[in-house]
Formats: sequence, structure tokens, C-alpha cells
Amino acid sequence: MAIWKNEILNSNKLNDLFMLNFMKEFDWRTTLEFISNRTTFTKKQCSSIDTKERSYRIKNLLKDLPTYETLCKRDVDVLENSTCIRCDKNEEETWDHVWICNDNEATLDEILRESISKFEEYLDKNRRSEDVTILRNHNINIVTILEERSNILIGKSRIWEMLRGVFNDRFNHLTKVKEELAIIKECWNFIYNEYKNRIWLIRYEEVARLEKLKGIQKHDLRKEKRKNQDIREEDAKEENIENKKTNKKDKKKQKKEFDKKINIVTRERLIGAVTDGINIENNWALTPKLINFSIDTH
Ligand SMILES: [Zn+2]
Repeated sequence: MAIWKNEILNSNKLNDLFMLNFMKEFDWRTTLEFISNRTTFTKKQCSSIDTKERSYRIKNLLKDLPTYETLCKRDVDVLENSTCIRCDKNEEETWDHVWICNDNEATLDEILRESISKFEEYLDKNRRSEDVTILRNHNINIVTILEERSNILIGKSRIWEMLRGVFNDRFNHLTKVKEELAIIKECWNFIYNEYKNRIWLIRYEEVARLEKLKGIQKHDLRKEKRKNQDIREEDAKEENIENKKTNKKDKKKQKKEFDKKINIVTRERLIGAVTDGINIENNWALTPKLINFSIDTH
């Protein structure tokens, strides 16, 4: 849980998805069920809640995967800068860059199309011939929806919505048959995982390999982070003592603390909704607004 608090603490990255949400573009219920990894699309995964997978999904939603941009923002001094070390484009390794980096083995469009046939093979292998038929009836529509321009993420295809883990409502309108929608969702989940396996996980290993060559060890990154935290805590302590000297300052501080508390309550709400899946709809309707007003107090 602590991880989420930190991640969401520094994040206003959901705002882009909520900006035009009045259009009911996304199916937030399905999205949150998927991200919380609670009621999963496939029966296989129902048995245990995979925390690691949930962590990945939440970080993706918030665009908070540990890219070089994210690490630099956290003051990891070991990194010289946030430039991508996999390609020669001299671009900052942002969350967006990871998915379109030259070093990726395939483009987003290629992976999408290959994933559809892979999913069919997978169904076939598991002797799910009826499901294969369902998939064949819908595969073109699935690809079309994903390749079209997103109405929310301007200048990007809907593949980018999927990369965040956000389920577009259009998929729900492809069929009225429950069993068919289940296959569509399973297919969606399969493609999502393909992006993870073929881009993020490969990137993760490759960056680790390159860092090793450069002599950056993972525990260095963590150590640096901890050191910085200690320094900040010390600063905070000193600040506290300073503040006690004058009443005026004290009141200001109290107000800040109060604002902070509101912030934390808001985040707990969001975290709770995502991780526990309790009252998802109710919470979700309130959360974005609260985030918007509380985000500035930092
Ligand atoms: Zn790159």
C-alpha cells in the first residue's frame, strides 16, 4: 500500500483521462475491475490476486512506471539525466517514449495485429473452438476500434488508452451477447499483456543490462533514494523547530498540515477504490474532482 501512496501523491497524471469524461468515452467500471485485478477477465487468474501485476497496472494508469523521467523526478542522483539509454534519439525516456522507442522489437500497430492471431492460436490450443468463432466475428472490429484516433488522448490512437489500461466503452457495443463480450474482454486483456511482455519487460531487462555495463547497480538507485529521503526528513525536522519560534508561521504550518490531510484522505479513497474494489462507482464519481482541487496544495 505504501507504494501507491507515494506514487499517487506525486501524480496528477489521471487528469488527461478525466478531462472529457462527460462524453462517457470509457467504461470505468470495467477499467477499475481490470486494474484492481480483482474480477479478472479470465477464469485462470481468479484464484489469487497478483499484487505485482496490480502494481504494474496502477503505475501504467498513472504513467508512473519507473522510467528514467520518473526516476529523475525522484532525485535519483546516480542517473546523469533522463535520456533514454536504449536508443540514439537523445530523447527523454518518458512513459510515452518507452512504447515508441526505436529499440522496441515491434511497433504498437504490429504488436496489436500479431496479438490478435496469437490470441486465436491460444484459444485453438485450448480447444475453445466456439470462442475462436466468436473472435473471428469480432477481431476486425476490435482492431478498428484500437487503431482509430482516441477522442480523449489527443493525437493518439486508442491503443494508448489500452496501454493505460482504460477500457473504451465502444467494445461494450460490439455485441449484446454476454459470452461474446467476455471473449472480447479476454482478447483485450491478452493484447494488454502482449504490450507488457514485448515492450515493458524487454525494456526493463535491457535497461538493467545497459546499467550494469555502466556500473549502475540497482541497490545504488535505492540507496540514493533513501539518502535523499533522510535528508528531507532532517530538513523537515529543522523546519519544524524554526516554525515553533513564531506563532504566525505556526498557523501557516497548521493550515498546510490540514490541507495535506485532505489530500491524503482523497488519495486513500482512490487507492482504496483501486486496490479493494469497494464501491468503485461511488468513489470514482467523486475522486477526480477531489484530486483536482487538492493537487495544487503541494
Ligand atoms: Zn529510446
